[in-house]
Amino acid sequence: MADYTPIAEIPKILNELRTTFQSGKTRPLEWRKQQLRQLARFAQENVEPIAECLRLDLGKPRLEVLVGEIAPIVQRCLHVADNLDEWAKPEVAPVHDWQAGWKARTERHPKGVALVISPWNYPMILSMQPVYGAIAAGCCVALKVSEVSSHFASFVAANLTKYLDPSAFRVILGGVPEITKILELKWDHIFYTGNGKVGRIIAAAAAKHLTPITLELGGKSPAIVDATADIPVTARRILFGKCTNAGQICVAPDYILAEESIVKPLVEALKQRLTEMFPEGALASASISRIVSDAHFARLKALLSSTKGKIVAGGNWDTEPGKRGFEPTVVVDVKDGDSLLSEELFGPILPIVTVRNLDEAIAFVNSRDHPLTLYAFSNNPENKAKILSSTMSGGVNFNDTVAQLSLDDVPFGGVGESGYGRQVCRYGFEDFSYLRPVIDVPYEEEKFNGARYAPFTPEAEAF
Ligand code: NAD
Repeated sequence: MADYTPIAEIPKILNELRTTFQSGKTRPLEWRKQQLRQLARFAQENVEPIAECLRLDLGKPRLEVLVGEIAPIVQRCLHVADNLDEWAKPEVAPVHDWQAGWKARTERHPKGVALVISPWNYPMILSMQPVYGAIAAGCCVALKVSEVSSHFASFVAANLTKYLDPSAFRVILGGVPEITKILELKWDHIFYTGNGKVGRIIAAAAAKHLTPITLELGGKSPAIVDATADIPVTARRILFGKCTNAGQICVAPDYILAEESIVKPLVEALKQRLTEMFPEGALASASISRIVSDAHFARLKALLSSTKGKIVAGGNWDTEPGKRGFEPTVVVDVKDGDSLLSEELFGPILPIVTVRNLDEAIAFVNSRDHPLTLYAFSNNPENKAKILSSTMSGGVNFNDTVAQLSLDDVPFGGVGESGYGRQVCRYGFEDFSYLRPVIDVPYEEEKFNGARYAPFTPEAEAF
């Protein structure tokens, strides 16, 4: 990895960004649109080096890089640029009759200098998605990329500002000492994507400066499967979400809550599907990522080794040091309190919890933190309505997994332990903006103001 940003440099970076912001350079919509197009160019012109960095960092298959990391950034930057004039338009506010001469409107203004802290699992899209939101809002950005995906981090640090204006956008490289220094400083908005433990550190540091924050966190997203589900398609779609980036994705279906009557056919369908996906075995396949680090690899091995459930598919991993392949692994008879239900798995392990009925599945979900996504597979509209009205989650996805990420015009974010604030296209623009009401009261309106000035008289009260 390239050298970390010297700690003494970090306050200087903030000062330079603040000077740029205060100069007004980032405010004109034309400038923002030009920077958005430049960010799209950065993604489009660097497909090969970015794919290579992600192969080195995560063994990420090229197709997953193209579809999950690069194409959405190119397309969304252009979509935002095309719609920015409309989204940024001041909204004229309705007024009372006696205010008819007033001009009242609500405008969206940039929050200022934003800090974006991104994780290693989707380093490209999870860095650039908040960055395009900040550009659209008219903010300056310091981007702290994850040191864990080190090849990508070095590439971005060396190349991003060849495309974006370096007086308004900077990349900071570093680990915990650097981020600790960063968090002592006063930023105008912090956008953090990562785990809840660090999310709390960020929130506490931001509170000292009353800095508003967005927390894009994770957690255990359940997949309820009821007795009416189409089992073969459900198995395909759940494994799609579980095997994408080897389960290292915030919206991976973490575990299944399956009604008793369908557990057996579901397990059979999952096993068959795994054989189809990885005919040569997952450890030999180039169609599944590797686990990002030795620490995460050891964590997954420990979780699987201590389960009291029964492994019915997979269960093996690479033993050669540094390879870190992990077979998609299905585990049944997993009970509350099991190691596999203790923390977000963030890997290709799929525990199945058997429930007697939908009510028991809903109670299980409600006894835990609100998930980022709630998945439910059902052909019964009443069951879907019941799930929707009796649970809470960042988002809901019926009958598929991960597909919600391909939508440009719905907000993405968590609730409760899975975070707060929203991103994606218009919602990212909104997140980095603040609403600023502006009123302009013409001098001619003074004739209506008599009653509000002292001395207060009975005539004024009658007015
Ligand atoms: P990570 O370890 O890369 O951490 C994310 C960022 O936090 C990095 O930039 C890192 O340098 C910084 N960081 C690490 N330790 C820190 C500390 N002590 N103080 C301050 N900053 C620190 O990534 P991660 O947290 O392992 O990412 C995985 C988690 O992120 C999972 O929980 C996943 O669900 C969640 N996630 C959420 C989303 C979302 O959009 N909601 C997307 C991806 C990942």
